Amino acid sequence: MKVMTIYAHPADTITNCGGTLARHADVGDEVVALILTHGGRIHANRYAEEWRKDAPDAAIAGAGLDDIVAFKKGELQRAADIVGISRVITLDRDDRDAALHDELVETVAEQIAAERPDVIICDYPQNPVMAANTHTVATTTVLAALGRAGAYLRNLDGRAEYHVKQVFLTSLPVFPTDGLSLFGVRNDVFVDITPVVGRKVAAMDCFDSQGYSGLFARKLIESANGEAGRAAGVNFAEGFYRLYNETHAVLPVTPAAMADDPLTRHVSYSRINLRAEYPIAE
Ligand SMILES: [Zn+2]
Repeated sequence: MKVMTIYAHPADTITNCGGTLARHADVGDEVVALILTHGGRIHANRYAEEWRKDAPDAAIAGAGLDDIVAFKKGELQRAADIVGISRVITLDRDDRDAALHDELVETVAEQIAAERPDVIICDYPQNPVMAANTHTVATTTVLAALGRAGAYLRNLDGRAEYHVKQVFLTSLPVFPTDGLSLFGVRNDVFVDITPVVGRKVAAMDCFDSQGYSGLFARKLIESANGEAGRAAGVNFAEGFYRLYNETHAVLPVTPAAMADDPLTRHVSYSRINLRAEYPIAE
């Protein structure tokens, strides 16, 4: 299977689905990450911390956009290697983008048509009216690009149409454990990332310039992936919302559901002490 992630910023791929990507890489799936913006302006923690010092390091405090972007790319590549992402494609758009741009839709459609992934992972477009949310803008771009990739005509465009099999949306912060509560708005697919959680910690530790390393890496995984894990009945999970309906030959019940014991899982899924097992490097 080929998995393609499409996110606004360099770290989004790891924070949202780094564990899932590691599991796909481990079973031999190809993983390609497309990053729309350079992320040079957001989460400038490394630089802001330096400005606040009495005697700031001039090279860090005075870094230009090219330096910041290059530094972030280094962080992203190290994280991608840990997770097992085969290829990172960076479009280097400005991360102040707050609108749908037709030429970016075309670029993303061309990338999708060229890569021909089986599935795409991108952010849940939380509130499409809030154009200030760059994650939402990124996903509306992806959805428009999917439509365009599906409308390519070989004799007019020089390339054939392409349809992905499924789109999994991340970062919907809603975790009821059934499909009736909250009008059915929920993550409805979970990937158990417990076997690879150390790699997600290590990958997040790479994003030092935006304060995602160390304490924050552990807090995010304990809280966000811990809560998804509670909903999934495992230590740590990543949650997804499927864009397209699924068709089966018979009614699907997952192996995890068949093996689940609700009266004992509270123990098994609470065992891992992330901070003891993956201490922060000195
Ligand atoms: Zn982001």
